[in-house]
Amino acid sequence: MNPIAVHAFNPGPMTGAGNWTWLIHGRVPTLIDAGTGDPRHLDAVEEALDGARLAQVLVTHAHVDHASGVVALAERFHGTRFLKMPWAERDSRWPAAWEPIGDAQIIDAGDEQLRAVHTPGHAPDHLCFWHDQSRTLFSGDLAVKGTTVYIPPNLQGDLADYLASLERVRALKPARLLPAHGPVIDDPETVLLGYLEHRREREEQIVNALRSGDATPEALVPLIYRGLKENLFQVARETVLAHLLKLERERRAGRRGDSWHIIEP
Ligand SMILES: [Zn+2]
Repeated sequence: MNPIAVHAFNPGPMTGAGNWTWLIHGRVPTLIDAGTGDPRHLDAVEEALDGARLAQVLVTHAHVDHASGVVALAERFHGTRFLKMPWAERDSRWPAAWEPIGDAQIIDAGDEQLRAVHTPGHAPDHLCFWHDQSRTLFSGDLAVKGTTVYIPPNLQGDLADYLASLERVRALKPARLLPAHGPVIDDPETVLLGYLEHRREREEQIVNALRSGDATPEALVPLIYRGLKENLFQVARETVLAHLLKLERERRAGRRGDSWHIIEP
């Protein structure tokens, strides 16, 4: 399998340099992720197809930079199927004839097969796609080399789920990850272990901060993120909240109103 990286032409504060979509040639020409419908992306997909039809688009999750392009893709490439794990409230934003994919489902793609791997955390509907022969994982937003992945509780992000997803992918022993943002990850074990370690450290910081006094997520942000830029405050607050909700579920933290406290064993 020789996937072609096709850039989605959507740089921005939340997408970095913009998204990668991945085209797989063969009997079932397949695009992984839909981009945002930028005409330059459609042209790039058409060029990469090199005269072949586009049989299907597999969408990793319903976030705008991965899914909103389905409308424009459907207009440009007739007869294309659109598949993803359902997320009812979100999928309806991008009107397409969505076909549902479930965890462990086998999907013909190119001349081979991919297996859907449910990897919630960043989003509840997040799927990775696994190609067993090459030990390649199309990893969506599970990992972005050189930075961490945003876990937004206000959009059903869940840190405990995310950590379990990282472990699930580690267990596959992938040789490489083909992400939706940033460079190809050819040292997955290092990157995934780094993420797990990073979250452990963050959690410890938050637990220690709460030990010296109850606090709101807003009050914790400047204690955890020193020198944080103003425009990143909301993202940092959501991340702190994701940690607090995980601690709450583990009965290691509690809250009265918006003020959180630690529960010592
Ligand atoms: Zn996303």
